[in-house]
Amino acid sequence: MNENGMQLIKNGKRIDGRETDEIRPIKIQAGVLYRADGSCYLEWGGNKVLVAVYGPRELLPKHHQHPMRAMVNATYNMAAFSVEDRKRPGPDRRSREISKVTSEALTGIVFTGQFPRATIDVYIEVLDAQAGTRCAGITAAAVALADAGIPMRDIPAACAVGKVDGTLVLDLTKEEDNYGEADMPIAIAPRTEEILLMQMDGHLTMNEFDTGLDLAIGACKKISELQKTALLEKYSASAQ
Ligand code: ADP
Repeated sequence: MNENGMQLIKNGKRIDGRETDEIRPIKIQAGVLYRADGSCYLEWGGNKVLVAVYGPRELLPKHHQHPMRAMVNATYNMAAFSVEDRKRPGPDRRSREISKVTSEALTGIVFTGQFPRATIDVYIEVLDAQAGTRCAGITAAAVALADAGIPMRDIPAACAVGKVDGTLVLDLTKEEDNYGEADMPIAIAPRTEEILLMQMDGHLTMNEFDTGLDLAIGACKKISELQKTALLEKYSASAQ
């Protein structure tokens, strides 16, 4: 029993039956939207996310342009029907925060210097939410950017690590997120392990942080393989 009166780990297993270092099942499909330059549909456990990428295209109004590089503008939105209680439509503090950190993470990996004065718009629509949607959004956005042919140093991947009942766990569920002790979403460039996003809600000791980071990096590398497979599937199908 933890301080919230919940027991989230029983006999070494989590409430959904997963091992502590196991991520929820992930399905990725690249190039699902006809009008977008690049797109991706991703299912991750109970999360369903659709991403559309447009650009690079001229950024208007002009005073928002950067003379030396493109801006990567991510917009994260949760559908009103994506959560148990209807979510009030439109942007709120949480969605603005996720849009901002996602834009910054993606700006760190795109060769923005190749497109002065341009914008690359990334629309992340969460259709079903069950914790970990920012990681699902970044993972899907990375595939959609690659599908749009946007030059990047690597294809980023994201996953959260956290602590529940004093144990480190990968890819938290809603209950683990709500009643656990810590939640740390990260996004990395899998090839170099460069960190593009790191947030932390709760507390970890230094040792837990080091071990948790290694766990999350390992998970991102597995997710990276699924992203590459999805892109290969799309392009090998369209070549036939
Ligand atoms: P993330 O989805 O990246 O884990 P949070 O930790 O902020 O981001 O949210 C955790 C989960 O809480 C979401 O995935 C979603 O399932 C749920 N949630 C978020 N906002 C709302 C809301 N307005 N109403 C109901 N549930 C929500």
